[in-house]
Amino acid sequence: MHLARFPRVSLGHFPTPLEPLLNLSRFLGGPNLYIKRDDCTGLATGGNKTRKLEFLLADALQQGADIVITQGATQSNHVRQTIAGAAKLGLKTQVLLEKRVSDFGDDYQRSGNVLLDNLLGGVIVDHLPAGTDMQQAMEHLAETLRAKGHKPYVIPGGGSNAIGALGYVACAEELLYQSTQQQLRIDHVVHATGSTGTQAGLVAGLTASNSGIPVLGISVRAAKEKQEENVYALAQRTRELLGIHGELSRATVVANSGYVGAGYGLPTEGTLEALTLLAQLEGILLDPVYTGKGMAGLIGLIRQGHFRKDDNIVFIHTGGSAGLFGYRELLQQQAKHE
Ligand SMILES: *Cc1c(COP(=O)(O)O)cnc(C)c1O
Repeated sequence: MHLARFPRVSLGHFPTPLEPLLNLSRFLGGPNLYIKRDDCTGLATGGNKTRKLEFLLADALQQGADIVITQGATQSNHVRQTIAGAAKLGLKTQVLLEKRVSDFGDDYQRSGNVLLDNLLGGVIVDHLPAGTDMQQAMEHLAETLRAKGHKPYVIPGGGSNAIGALGYVACAEELLYQSTQQQLRIDHVVHATGSTGTQAGLVAGLTASNSGIPVLGISVRAAKEKQEENVYALAQRTRELLGIHGELSRATVVANSGYVGAGYGLPTEGTLEALTLLAQLEGILLDPVYTGKGMAGLIGLIRQGHFRKDDNIVFIHTGGSAGLFGYRELLQQQAKHE
């Protein structure tokens, strides 16, 4: 692979650390857990969208865009990182938020990522009802801006298209390099999967190098079949963009949707347990929407005996801790129970 063929800007601190989770591994009685700290990308509290935005915003600059449009749920980490990355490049961002989660109060609506969106200079143009066709709403906003003489660049939800997924192809290369340096045989990579760019990029990168490392996405929203279909389609498009010939084996794309619970953005008991365990055993902050569920899935599967005791498993921490502040009431109730 030759990623330097694609335009890229520098927005994050790379490589992110790959470290053992000694206390959690001991607590669970094995396997050997490791964490790749993509929460430490450095961009306005960091996260996985930083990697995608290095390619997406470079494309925006190359196309001569003067304004960025994107969308996400109220507490979107993608929206926050997009605004921050664009700000660094001197671009303004106009945002459409979707009220995808309605169960939480004032902190959810205004604190956490929303507070940071405003501080970073993002313009929240509208806060639309759950189920709105957000892609169409963005196209409409782009039309309005074009009519005013602007050149908008539209980034899909989660930054998940083939250009964005290149960020996780780069992560796959980084991870393989670290595994060689640390003499760490990796048996599984596990992470939270949503808009699919992370898993698609990892699968494209890890298969292109014939690493033989399987990736397991823990779904935070969609059912297994739909999630796998979407990840597979994007992984294929990413391979095409990279000029990799031949068909990707369908078996390389695996998602587990057994840990979604009641729905997107609604933490389960397992999510809260994972948040608490990582905080209190490792001093690591997960998030209530993605990594809390992803880690709950990993812990759940370990308890079911899904992995071998001597497996080395890398959990990719995709960020999101800014979202904790949007869930203050729920987390305080949880703390009282203990
Ligand atoms: C967006 C996000 C994910 C999911 O990544 P996708 O590429 O959308 O599948 C996981 N964790 C966090 C914290 C995120 O913000």
